[in-house]
Amino acid sequence: MKKKIHDRGFLKAISTITLVIGMAGLPCTSRAASEETAPPFDTWLSELQAEAVSRGFDAAIVSSALAGVSPIERVIELDRRQPEFTLTFRKYLDGAISEKRVKRGRELLVEHKVLLDQVATKYGVQPRFLIAFWGLETNFGGYFGAFPVAGSLVTLAHDRRRAKFFREQLLAALDIMSRGDMPIDVKGSWAGAMGNFQFIPTTYRDFAIDFDGDGKRDLWNNMKDGFGSAANYLSRSGWDRNGTWGREIRLPDGFDFALAGLDRNRTLSEWQALGVRRADGRDLPEADIEGAIVIPSGHKGPSFMVYTNFHTILKWNRSIFYAIAIGHLADRIIGQGGLLTPPPVSDVPMSRADVKEMQTRLTSSGFDTGGSDGVIGRMTRDAIRSFQKSVGLPPDAYPSMDILKRLRGSVEN
Ligand code: CA
Repeated sequence: MKKKIHDRGFLKAISTITLVIGMAGLPCTSRAASEETAPPFDTWLSELQAEAVSRGFDAAIVSSALAGVSPIERVIELDRRQPEFTLTFRKYLDGAISEKRVKRGRELLVEHKVLLDQVATKYGVQPRFLIAFWGLETNFGGYFGAFPVAGSLVTLAHDRRRAKFFREQLLAALDIMSRGDMPIDVKGSWAGAMGNFQFIPTTYRDFAIDFDGDGKRDLWNNMKDGFGSAANYLSRSGWDRNGTWGREIRLPDGFDFALAGLDRNRTLSEWQALGVRRADGRDLPEADIEGAIVIPSGHKGPSFMVYTNFHTILKWNRSIFYAIAIGHLADRIIGQGGLLTPPPVSDVPMSRADVKEMQTRLTSSGFDTGGSDGVIGRMTRDAIRSFQKSVGLPPDAYPSMDILKRLRGSVEN
C-alpha cells in the first residue's frame, strides 16, 4: 500500500518537511494521541445516531449505515503512524509526475474536452488543472480507496485525537447518504476521502454539484458531476480564471533568501528589478500581478514564482509539494517541458534520527530549535538559517545531510 503514489495517505503522511496534512480541508493537528479516554462505544454510537436523526437526516438510512459498524484498528494505526524519513521534493515529484501520468493526462484532456470546456466556462477553472487534480488524487479514477467510509469515520470520530473534526465528517457523510447521493456502503480513503477527487464529507456536502442534472451528486461514476464539483470547489475557494498557478524562475546570484516565502508577495516588476527571471532567463511577464517565491528543495534546486491560484491549491491540500506538483503537471499536460533545474541529487531523505541529531547540534551550537523532536518546524528552519548565515552558506533554511555533516564538522574542529 505504501508503494502506491495514488494513496493520499502515503503522499501526505510521510512528509515532515512540508506542511502536510490529510484530505482537503483537514486541520493541522499534533500527532500525539489525546490522553482523554474514549467513551464506551455503544453508548457513544447511539447518541451520535440520535444526533443525526435530530438534524433531520433519514432515520432508516442512518440506522442502516451505522448498523454493525465498529472501530477499525488499521485506521487508528494509519492515523498514528510517524514517518521514518523526511519526504524530499525530489522524491515527491518523482512519485507524483511520471511520463506515463503526463501522457495519460494529455489523452484525457482530449477525451473530455467538450465537458471540460463547459465546466471551464461556468466555473472558470482551466481544464489542465482539473486533469492534474484528477491525476494526483486518484490516478485519474484508478483508485478510490478501499476503506468503508462509515466505519473509518466512526473509528476516527470515536477516537479522541481528532474527535471533533471527524464527528463533523461522519455527520456530513450521513447527511449525504440521507440525500441519496451515495450508497451507505461506500468506500474511500482511511480518513473518509471519496470519489475521483477524494472529497472529504464536508467538502462533498458543501461543494459537490449535480452538473448533469440527474438529481444525484455522483463523484464516482459521473465525470460531469466530478469535474463540475472539483471546479465549483476551486472556484469558491478563490480560483482566478485568468491566471495560472506560477512558474519556475531563476534567482540572481547573491539573492537574499529572506525575500522568499509564501507570505512575501511583490509585484512582478519588483521581482524583475531584483534580478529574478523566468527559468530560461527571459524577463518576467509584464503583468500587473503579485507573486511570492517558493524554494522547495533548497538553493541548489528549482525556484518558483507562485500566484493567487497556488494559494487556492493549498486550500485543497496544504502541502507545498502537492501544490507545485499540481501546477507542474497541469503545465506538462499542455505540452510544456520538465523543470529546467530539477531537484538536486543531493536532496536525499533524512531519517528522524538524523533530524534529531541536527536539532541537538544546532541547539548546542547556539541555534535553538526548541527541542529535538525529529520534526522540522519553523524554529528548526530559523535555526538552520541562522547557522547557514554564521558559516557563510546560502541561508535557504533547507534541512539537509549537508547541514548535518557541516554541524558534525564544526563540532570536531
Ligand atoms: Ca448527477
